Amino acid sequence: MTRVAIIGAGAAGCFCAARLRELAPEMAVDVYEAGNRALAKVAITGGGRCNLTNTFAEIRSLSEAYPRGEKLMRRLLKAFSQEDARAWFEAAGVPLTDRDAPCIFPASQDAMDIVRALLRGMSGATLHTGKRLESLTPGWTLHFADGTDATADAVVVTTGGAPKGLPFLDGLGLAMVPPVPSLFTFTIQDAGLRALMGLVVPAAVSLPGTGFRAEGPLLITDWGLSGPATLKLSSYAARHLAEKDYHAPLAVNWLAMPEIVVREQFQDLARQHPQKQLSSTPLSPLPGRLWALLLNRAGLREDLRWAELGSKGLNRLVAVLTADSYAIEGKSRFRDEFVTCGGVALSNIDLNTLECKSLPGLYFAGEVLDIDAITGGFNLQAAWSTGDAVARALAKS
Ligand SMILES: Cc1cc2nc3c(=O)[nH]c(=O)nc-3n(C[C@H](O)[C@H](O)[C@H](O)COP(=O)(O)OP(=O)(O)OC[C@H]3O[C@@H](n4cnc5c(N)ncnc54)[C@H](O)[C@@H]3O)c2cc1C
Repeated sequence: MTRVAIIGAGAAGCFCAARLRELAPEMAVDVYEAGNRALAKVAITGGGRCNLTNTFAEIRSLSEAYPRGEKLMRRLLKAFSQEDARAWFEAAGVPLTDRDAPCIFPASQDAMDIVRALLRGMSGATLHTGKRLESLTPGWTLHFADGTDATADAVVVTTGGAPKGLPFLDGLGLAMVPPVPSLFTFTIQDAGLRALMGLVVPAAVSLPGTGFRAEGPLLITDWGLSGPATLKLSSYAARHLAEKDYHAPLAVNWLAMPEIVVREQFQDLARQHPQKQLSSTPLSPLPGRLWALLLNRAGLREDLRWAELGSKGLNRLVAVLTADSYAIEGKSRFRDEFVTCGGVALSNIDLNTLECKSLPGLYFAGEVLDIDAITGGFNLQAAWSTGDAVARALAKS
């Protein structure tokens, strides 16, 4: 009988085990988990609600969702898509809701329903907890931190994002992409900005001199900037920001509009309301408090009238609205979702089976691979799609 060892009882490992039970029930499946229970992280995903996938309706190009691993995900989603994930969990007894579309959650809003469905799906596989893999000998023998060994015909590594690297793969000659954090918020020491803490505005943020740019709701916090636009930018520029030690200039376009459009809108305002004070005519949808801050940053008096603005004043105002500059002075961890960019390089693996090209019988799935996504359910979708790909490949072999 073929014996498969899955290392790591997280989203990818447990889903792979469940799919193996469906596709190849004759195989013996052992799941080895370092912690004392399976799926501990899944239980806290999405603030305990588990945003298990996304409709992808707002994604124009897959690279927007997967800054790393886009090509592989394009291929894997054809075989196991977001619709397949939804259908699988519903068939496993978890009704889902698209009330927060494009994000998909269990209708119960309880991540434990996802945990329980995966554990039910895995039944027949043997879960071994407290088993931290320390090293692997091709062939395959697994050596655990507690001094015990186990053997298997195939090994699936699903140990998740590894901020400190993957020591048990040392010596196997695999190419690795150095791990760096993704999905973090920016520390910005700006008293004016921080005074607006709690404000959310639709905006675009970018790193001047690079192509990194993201759009979406921007949340002003007491430490700087957060919200979907910031998190997306942190994901797109994860490696660049790590190289800069999280110190970089940041440009904010407070209207997420091209400069020319903003300029025209101001010229219209000046024509229509020449005698009105700037402070009383903010551009929609800018909140009044933010408008006051931006006038101040442009060096314009609040009681100035549109007729008095002049072309220099207009230029300053347009510049502040479309390319307001701040300095990122550090990162802070995002409260709800945090992933690692980097891991096992995709060049090591066959993109159809996720099997290691140089070491047959060794497979990878989930965040241990150099695949990661922005927030919104895309990371768990990657765990489902990669877990499924490995299970199908093993079932065929
Ligand atoms: C707080 C939080 C909230 C999140 N919310 C969401 C969300 O709502 N939607 C979304 O799409 N993504 C979310 N994510 C990201 C998502 O949880 C991960 O991308 C996903 O869990 C990765 O799955 P995985 O199986 O690859 O790794 P993991 O789920 O991390 O599982 C890896 C498992 O391997 C075990 N392990 C590690 N090393 C060893 C070893 N040497 N030997 C044996 N076992 C080992 C670990 O203990 C762990 O159980 C969130 C992440 C966090 C931290």
